[in-house]
Amino acid sequence: MPPLTTDALVLRTLPLGEMSVVAVLLTRSKGKVRAVAKGARGPGHRYQSSLQPLSEVRTTLYGREGTELFRLGAVELLRSSEPPNSNLESLLALEYCAELFEAFLPPEARDDDAYRLGRSCVTALKQRGPAGTAVMRYAEAWTLKLHGLYPSLSRCLACRQPITMGLCFDHTDARAVCSNCGSKRTEILDADSRALLRSALRLSPSNFALRTEGIDLTPIATFHRVLIESHLGRSLNSSRVIESVLRETVRPS
Ligand SMILES: [Zn+2]
Repeated sequence: MPPLTTDALVLRTLPLGEMSVVAVLLTRSKGKVRAVAKGARGPGHRYQSSLQPLSEVRTTLYGREGTELFRLGAVELLRSSEPPNSNLESLLALEYCAELFEAFLPPEARDDDAYRLGRSCVTALKQRGPAGTAVMRYAEAWTLKLHGLYPSLSRCLACRQPITMGLCFDHTDARAVCSNCGSKRTEILDADSRALLRSALRLSPSNFALRTEGIDLTPIATFHRVLIESHLGRSLNSSRVIESVLRETVRPS
């Protein structure tokens, strides 16, 4: 295969030996790929800070047709994901969103929607200061939506009636249903949070953060966690760490 130059969002890097990393990238032209970045670690490393989560880069991939592991050529940083003042909540959100996207993206399938979602989440984190929590909830909702895994917030999948209260989880069919079809015990989303999501998910992540400012998004985090874990069969590595760090540092006043 001739070398392929493409724009990409960095999802993650994993150390490889003393000096290198494997970078997981969401590329514009090939979707999610893995590529070895030789000399990315150690003194004077050649990729500098361009391999941070959700930074946007232009790079060249080398490898045979059908390879599962490319070699990364030069990397040009198009847009750093670095939030203003290295805000901790935003840095954690970048890491979390990148892990979330990676977990849901199949290898080597172009996904412009996911790419745009990633970019717009970075924009929100750069514009809005401490909007990390809101951006994570937004990224979860839209990742689930893009993969056809988000339940309707307006009509029940079981009885086809408009939903007026909250949503419950039907464990038999692993799906969200209205409060008439489910039992209160299994409620995963209260009525207010459902109404908020219905109106706010159409906004950009930046305006979603503005719209939800001062609102406790914990019920939405719980709702999304049920959906994510029921699909992946596991929790995301960074989710637990982040929730505990944020509880300590950005306690609502
Ligand atoms: Zn129903």
